[in-house]
Amino acid sequence: MKFLRELKDLSGKTVLLRTDLDAPHDGNKIMNDYRIQRSLETIKFLQEHGAKIIAISKLGRPKKSDNWEGRDQSESLRPVAEHLANLLGKKPLAVSNKIPKYDVGHLILFTGDIRLKENLQVVKEAPQKDLILLENIRFYPEEETLDQNFAKLLASMADIYVEDAFAVVHRTETSVSELPKFLPAYAGLNLEREIKSLDKAMELKASPFVLMMAGIKISDKVGAIRNLGKDANHILLGGGLANLFLKSKGYEIGCSKVETDKQSLAEELLRNYKDKIILPIDVVVGSEDYTNPRVVMIEQVKKDDLILDIGPKTILEFSKYIKNAKKMVWNGPMGLFEKKPFSQGTMSLALLFASKCDENCFGVAGGGDTLEAIAAAKIGEHISFISTGGGAMLEYLAGEKLPGITALN
Ligand code: ADP
Ligand code: MG
Repeated sequence: MKFLRELKDLSGKTVLLRTDLDAPHDGNKIMNDYRIQRSLETIKFLQEHGAKIIAISKLGRPKKSDNWEGRDQSESLRPVAEHLANLLGKKPLAVSNKIPKYDVGHLILFTGDIRLKENLQVVKEAPQKDLILLENIRFYPEEETLDQNFAKLLASMADIYVEDAFAVVHRTETSVSELPKFLPAYAGLNLEREIKSLDKAMELKASPFVLMMAGIKISDKVGAIRNLGKDANHILLGGGLANLFLKSKGYEIGCSKVETDKQSLAEELLRNYKDKIILPIDVVVGSEDYTNPRVVMIEQVKKDDLILDIGPKTILEFSKYIKNAKKMVWNGPMGLFEKKPFSQGTMSLALLFASKCDENCFGVAGGGDTLEAIAAAKIGEHISFISTGGGAMLEYLAGEKLPGITALN
């Protein structure tokens, strides 16, 4: 793989930058700008080295019916462009066909259809000092269909392709897996950092290695648990994920949400990692409408209870493992942390996890909702490394080959 860091002279070059500005927003304001912050290093590097940038990102998950003509303006990159412009000290400007000539560079959100020749030409001719951001790439149906002509069209605007959007490298999408076929392709600084940090999480020989997995879907997580579980000394399980394991062990879990058809995966892990897996001993249960929180021992869960968080005894138990850890990997909230009465487990573990990270203990956390939990706990700066990837991180940690990375090789 070639790394952008190794490229020194970029003056006069145009870079097609696949970046990740996919941040949660309310239509106006960005709620958590961690991913946008992480995109800055590469953007600044490219600017300092004299490159012109045409950036591509997705935002949210536009439905098929929202494709270009029917695109939903609430999925426009506009709030993200404004936020990014602010961070870069540039003025944001949304244009659909012409780029006005100003003395100072702007962050141009190009909202026009790039498939039209005249629009393509406008973007090609934009001055270096402007940073061009194309509108939500998922508005184009060609992004999903791996359209080779669309890839060629995008590639025709630039000399170099830089992949920096780690969170999408597990996807087979035109701007991720196809574009690198048509241009010299490099890994950006953020992608490089992700790869090196996650490699370290897998390869560093440090014991005890504590793996914390929670969240909801075992199908997303089983690969990472299988792979990391080989080296892990302890596997702490919480969240909806743990419910499935508790059920497999014969405990009553009431009406808790579980992937019942995936029971065999839990059984497999319980068999293979029998002495490593640590399950909740007490939990916070609630009713169907997420009210009436009660702490009960796991044996006391009733038929109409929902398990919505780990309990205080479990937090204490987990903390004993974290206390001695020399390496930690964490993915997934320990409960329904979006609702205050069920957020204690996640918030406590976030604090314990962050406070343990230092030069003697390397801790990696990641996952879309895990990022939200870390932001809510306001402890992100103390964590050794926070991945910008959710699914991508889990697949990488499972040891899988990711199309967006393979495409760079
Ligand atoms: P990540 O995005 O970090 O990988 P997941 O998507 O797997 O995490 O899971 C996050 C979601 O799981 C959160 O919305 C959280 O509310 C939910 N969750 C965690 N534990 C429970 C539980 N016991 N019951 C219901 N929802 C849960
Ligand atoms: Mg999630």
